[in-house]
Amino acid sequence: MRTWEKNIRKVVPYVPGEQPKKAKMIKLNTNENPYPPTPNAKKVLEEFHTEHLKLYPDPKIEDLTRCISKTYGVKENQVFTGIGSDDVLALAFLTFFNSDDPILFPDITYSFYDVWAELYKIKYKTVALTENFTIDPLDYRQKNGGIIFPNPNAPTGVYESLDTIEEILKENPDSVVIVDEAYIDFAGPSALSLVDRYDHLLVVQTFSKSRSMAGVRIGFAIGNEILISYLNDVKYSFNSYTLNELTIRLGIAALEDKNYFEKRVKQLIHTREWTKSRLKELSFSFPDSQGNFIFASHPSKHAKEIVQELKERNIYVRYFDKPRINNYLRITVGTEEEMEEFIDHLKDILK
Ligand SMILES: *Cc1c(COP(=O)(O)O)cnc(C)c1O
Repeated sequence: MRTWEKNIRKVVPYVPGEQPKKAKMIKLNTNENPYPPTPNAKKVLEEFHTEHLKLYPDPKIEDLTRCISKTYGVKENQVFTGIGSDDVLALAFLTFFNSDDPILFPDITYSFYDVWAELYKIKYKTVALTENFTIDPLDYRQKNGGIIFPNPNAPTGVYESLDTIEEILKENPDSVVIVDEAYIDFAGPSALSLVDRYDHLLVVQTFSKSRSMAGVRIGFAIGNEILISYLNDVKYSFNSYTLNELTIRLGIAALEDKNYFEKRVKQLIHTREWTKSRLKELSFSFPDSQGNFIFASHPSKHAKEIVQELKERNIYVRYFDKPRINNYLRITVGTEEEMEEFIDHLKDILK
């Protein structure tokens, strides 16, 4: 080791799912939406002028923020917009988690949380999910410097009711509670309805999954205006220009095409339920996923082997070699045709 290396901030980075460059594959490993975004996105691209490229974009992201606030029925100063929800969450960790007490999150959850905690040197403690991968709000009755969990949870897909979330909020009035709703559009009601009653609640959502814009990078947070103003202070202390002009316009196009959004979400939920039935027939067990993915385990063939054999057939699913979940596959719901093909291959592999 060189002597200067001792002063370097060393981190173990988050490992995103593989993005293989293959012409013919079935990609069910990173929870992207299999459908294209709103057709209006094409118009945005066609009408976009290179003049916009020479100027800095709007640091306040006002047009998109206004559109988000209208869509979700909140005030503009209750909305924070960032480069995907990963950016929003990373800034939220930096802004809200500054206590000497540990922050809390589930033992099985989005694997970026412990990475951000380590990066910022935030103390953290994981809270074990129940045997059925659900959250017991009583487990969050302990001293903490903040709480974060996804709803539905990733990679389990389990959706927690608003009663559970409200119980956690009531028990923890002195902590900021972040609910990461990356998959909420495929699930039940959003915690957004609680934002006006709990000023310590921050709800984070993304355009990456339900709006088919993982490549565009738009995420947002909604909360009490005081929370949002603290988040903005940190953003302006870090990078004022986050979303570029093209991204902003694409985001607005996605929000404005409500019909397309609703149609695609409905279609995806239908395919998810179809896939669940087929997986059940093949003896897989899984929590009742409410996301755009299914977290499944087979009684006789190990997940690691299934993943490998699928890969040989150019089908990609996600596997986590971690305690409690190392015999599960996380299968993103693709198009109807992709899922039919996937199930056929799975049948063949399990034969
Ligand atoms: C996908 C995902 C995100 C990040 O999404 P972005 O593409 O950065 O908006 C955040 N949290 C969870 C739980 C996710 O699954």
